[in-house]
Amino acid sequence: MKGFTSKIVHSDRLDGVEHGAMHKPVHDSVAFSFDDAHELAAVFQGVKPGYTYGRQVNPTVGALEKKITAMEGGLGSVCFGTGMAAIGTTMFALLRAGDHIVSSAFLFGNTTSLFNSFGRQGLDVSFVDATDVENVANAITAHTKMVFVETIANPRTQIADLQAIGELCRQRGLIYVVDNTMTSPFLFQPREVGASLAVNSLTKYISGHGNVLGGVVTELGNFDWSTFPNIYDDYQSGDSALWGVVQIRKKGLRDFGAALSAQSAHDISKGAETLALRLDRQCSNAQVLAEFLAQQPASCVDAVYYPGLSRHPQYQRCQTLFGRCGAILSFELAPERDLWQFLNALQVAIKSTNLGDNRTLVIPVSQSIYHEVGAKVRKEMGIADTLIRVSVGIEDIEDLLEDFGLAFASS
Ligand SMILES: *Cc1c(COP(=O)(O)O)cnc(C)c1O
Repeated sequence: MKGFTSKIVHSDRLDGVEHGAMHKPVHDSVAFSFDDAHELAAVFQGVKPGYTYGRQVNPTVGALEKKITAMEGGLGSVCFGTGMAAIGTTMFALLRAGDHIVSSAFLFGNTTSLFNSFGRQGLDVSFVDATDVENVANAITAHTKMVFVETIANPRTQIADLQAIGELCRQRGLIYVVDNTMTSPFLFQPREVGASLAVNSLTKYISGHGNVLGGVVTELGNFDWSTFPNIYDDYQSGDSALWGVVQIRKKGLRDFGAALSAQSAHDISKGAETLALRLDRQCSNAQVLAEFLAQQPASCVDAVYYPGLSRHPQYQRCQTLFGRCGAILSFELAPERDLWQFLNALQVAIKSTNLGDNRTLVIPVSQSIYHEVGAKVRKEMGIADTLIRVSVGIEDIEDLLEDFGLAFASS
């Protein structure tokens, strides 16, 4: 089976699940027993495959890890309790004090906050405009170990120079981490632009229903870990392509402990079955809604940010890399409009944070997710006081257009 969705919906069954169950059952046991003490020792020593303790391995979570690995076309994955845990733990496991990271300046807000905290713990972080590879290249120092970018940035939808940064990282021997949450492996596989590791928040499009938290990091096979100085001696054995992901599981997941629960893994697996169907619909809804907003008079809308609009600076890049343009858009309400009245007039779109939900969600950016950073940073990031982010859902498009149209008319 080659198709994206075919692989997801058949992966558990074809893996020889207990009793012919079509879903991997929820294994809630924390520990696993052995009849033979030699076998226990062999599993603990990694000589034999098997399960030891639920913080680092679980059969239900393992089945999801295999599914994500197949979706990303990678070599192995490690799941975490949240997307933030996947990012933070990966950095913690692979980097040391004195190491330098070049990061996109246009990141999910909590990731920026996390990187700033790492900056105080002895890592050195440079934030650059990663829509142009030159800015990344200019920031590299003798201590740089990693480049970190997202695909489509939230809320202003900038698209990193993903292909060129991949080539740069290959030439300079740097770990290239791509947070693929906004695109998901359905729209984009970071492996194809030379990324070393893909990160996905499973909370968003992959699970899709806004009812479960999770995160994952996937080894994509493009980085030569045998040249990486931060791999512990203990993990420099076996296939060197897997040294990084083994260290992330041991030093990261096992020692830091941000494990995904079996029930959550089960819920995410169920959601993942319809990723392609949902996201397809969400992308086409977002395209139509973005065009509708862009056509509003200047007395309604000041600006619309969506990479599927031909005047978006990375429109061509989006077409080449992703084909479809994702389901996040943002727009600035015209200054004569009242932001609160407009938001309160919406009846279908829900005032809420989160994104990637089946339901359309709206949030005033400056007053919520970008409140803590302050006015100076908001200005640098191009976050206007009237900016509204829309995470477009799977509703019937006529209902969304009517909802936004009525909100303009009544505010
Ligand atoms: C939501 C999000 C995260 C964090 O994921 P959680 O599961 O909420 O911890 C990381 N990166 C991006 C791009 C996100 O949208």
